[in-house]
Amino acid sequence: MRITDDRYLRDLRRLDLARRLIDHGARTKTIAIWTQLSSYRIRQLCRTYGCSVDSRQSGVPPRSTAYFWRTPQMQIEAASLAGICKVLGVLPRTRMAARDFTLPARGERLCQAYEAYVDSFEKPKISIEYAVLLAAALATTDDISIGKCVSCGGVVLVDLGDVVDNCCVYCAGRMPGYARSPLAAPSTRRRRANRRTRAAGQSGKQVVLL
Ligand SMILES: [Zn+2]
Repeated sequence: MRITDDRYLRDLRRLDLARRLIDHGARTKTIAIWTQLSSYRIRQLCRTYGCSVDSRQSGVPPRSTAYFWRTPQMQIEAASLAGICKVLGVLPRTRMAARDFTLPARGERLCQAYEAYVDSFEKPKISIEYAVLLAAALATTDDISIGKCVSCGGVVLVDLGDVVDNCCVYCAGRMPGYARSPLAAPSTRRRRANRRTRAAGQSGKQVVLL
């Protein structure tokens, strides 16, 4: 294969990835990071595809993973999306540097995972921007991980700063009629304290990570 063919195919893959991300409503900055296309080129593509800037999200990309613990339904959807990301190879086996995570090939798998997630729920609540945040946090930070419910073995999203809740919302009795609220994400102080406790080997909580 000639070098020009290689470049053509590489550019074609980036354009296709950009189109998928535009379709999902990703921000220009997010698309630029994953495709390595310029913001100007992405805006051109948006016009070509007939989408207005207004139809996409604007502002600063989300940064807080506490979002995924806001409601029991969100916890279920986030765990599902995380599991799909794991199965489809979006997530590395071990933590990696953020700059190595946003490769176009991984972006394609992330789009595939997001599309599978959207198809799995009647009214999916997680936007592509939060899907990117979730995958990036799982792959590049030690804040959250994928785990198993200690009761039923189902996939759960684990806040590593608060291992108390390593139980799915069903087993914890948190779906309609549940006794106590799982909604409040742990405060930064509490997360740090929990990390220190775990680092010191003093945690007695049962944590099963995938
Ligand atoms: Zn369970």
